[in-house]
Amino acid sequence: MGVVRSGKSMRSFDLHTSIPTFPLQGGRSQPAVFFTTPMTQPKSIPCPCGGKIYDTCCARFIERNQLPGTAEELMRSRYTAYTQHNEPYLKSTWHASTRPHDSIAQDDGTKWLGLEVRKHIAAGDKATVEFVARYKVAGRAHRLHEISNFVREEGRWFYVDGSFPEKNK
Ligand SMILES: [Zn+2]
Repeated sequence: MGVVRSGKSMRSFDLHTSIPTFPLQGGRSQPAVFFTTPMTQPKSIPCPCGGKIYDTCCARFIERNQLPGTAEELMRSRYTAYTQHNEPYLKSTWHASTRPHDSIAQDDGTKWLGLEVRKHIAAGDKATVEFVARYKVAGRAHRLHEISNFVREEGRWFYVDGSFPEKNK
């Protein structure tokens, strides 16, 4: 009886997990343009009020202090300011005689969905704008149908107040 040598083969396990290698770039730099972003980006986003481009629509009034030439432009910019919770703009365009003291544009979860201007009637320094604004609160959709009154003083339009036509239409 000979001694049987253990014929167990030593299985060699390759314990080297495959480590991904990152080939060195040899010091080549990527084109710089790849990493730089311009300091100011064109605001080519659509305007919340429904205008084509924010920058050439309500941004003129909200961000660049231009004066709206019509009550409708002011109304649109105020709608956009609501979507931005832009309290200073809303107060500055609200006539002093009716301007509320309380906060008017706090972020209460209202999501503004769109604006439809139905009618704009201007007569001298007074104007009305009828509009429907749609919004959502806590997942529920609402619509605000208002006829806003505006007045122009020293070339500047102000929101005065509004009335609300029949609720259901
Ligand atoms: Zn706009």
